[in-house]
Amino acid sequence: MFRPNITAMQGYVPGEQPRGMEFVKLNTNENPFPCSPAVKAAIGRVCQSGLQRYPDPMATAFRERAAELFKHEVPGITPDWILCGNGSDDILTIVTRSFVAPGGLIRFPRPSYILYNTLAAIQGAESETVDFKSDWTLGSAFTAANERLQLAFLPNPNSPTGTVIAPDKVAKLAAALPCPLIVDEAYADFATTNCLGLVAENERVIVTRTLSKSYSLAGLRFGFAVAQPQIIEQLIKVKDSYNCDSLSIAGATAAIDDQAYFAKTRDAIIATRERMTGALRGLGFECIDSQANFVWCRHGKRESRDLYQQLKDAGVLVRYMNYAGWGEGLRISVGSDEQCDLLLAKLGGMV
Ligand code: PMP
Repeated sequence: MFRPNITAMQGYVPGEQPRGMEFVKLNTNENPFPCSPAVKAAIGRVCQSGLQRYPDPMATAFRERAAELFKHEVPGITPDWILCGNGSDDILTIVTRSFVAPGGLIRFPRPSYILYNTLAAIQGAESETVDFKSDWTLGSAFTAANERLQLAFLPNPNSPTGTVIAPDKVAKLAAALPCPLIVDEAYADFATTNCLGLVAENERVIVTRTLSKSYSLAGLRFGFAVAQPQIIEQLIKVKDSYNCDSLSIAGATAAIDDQAYFAKTRDAIIATRERMTGALRGLGFECIDSQANFVWCRHGKRESRDLYQQLKDAGVLVRYMNYAGWGEGLRISVGSDEQCDLLLAKLGGMV
């Protein structure tokens, strides 16, 4: 009944989203701050409309505002350079369905976002991972020729490490690859650089972004891709007709319009990230310098899985991750200052 690749595959297991229990929730890189008040007002106005009409299938309002927002980073950008989705996971699904045929090959780094494996499996394609070098860049194995290679994913900043490959290096990877490169910039707003500018130079670079993290809208589901218009034109054929609803389009548009709120909350998270990294090191953790809203760490003397469980029992939820053949550790999202203090106090009593 089912395609064999579906029965054979492991389903994607998102991070724990406990309901009805109060946790200090630092496991799925959500923003500790609520969304901008302007978002709530915009969604309220849509509710007043009665909701009986379908949404704008192209999310025009958002695309217009986003093109305006990125005009200095992407020369020549217009709304036609933007594709909106139900979170950036939806965009990742659209690009996979667009470029990858059954039997094809998708390449991405190890460790990175686990969903890429799932998308390949659903498509009946093979996944190939390439380990980072010791400086967290990628070598020639990432761009090696393979006639089955149809798509490459590069999370930048990477999850779970929070490391960044500089745009000039990403440009070289993209130029050397024989297939489109999806630069997954879910966390780029917390970093010092990004690859948006590359889309103007290379039609095979597609940058994806989300409002789930830096705009505090994980509950709304809104993400987007930026690429040259002839690429977006094809991707539109593959998306669901109404993949963004009226509430999310209005909310997302209001969110990117409130740049003052965005900058204030982002800056607070970056400051807390730096403080948290230093304090974790003080407690004996090895931490990788992060440019995202989370920190990847391991304790010199304690098992990561045990620390995860002890923290959970103490009401603090972090993410334990184990990448077969690479290693394991804890990915801890950057919360508010109060949440960070509580985490550090609990850990201080454990290590
Ligand atoms: N890319 C990466 C690297 C992520 O960590 C996430 C969050 N799980 C996403 C994309 C998807 O985020 P969303 O669907 O909420 O936009």
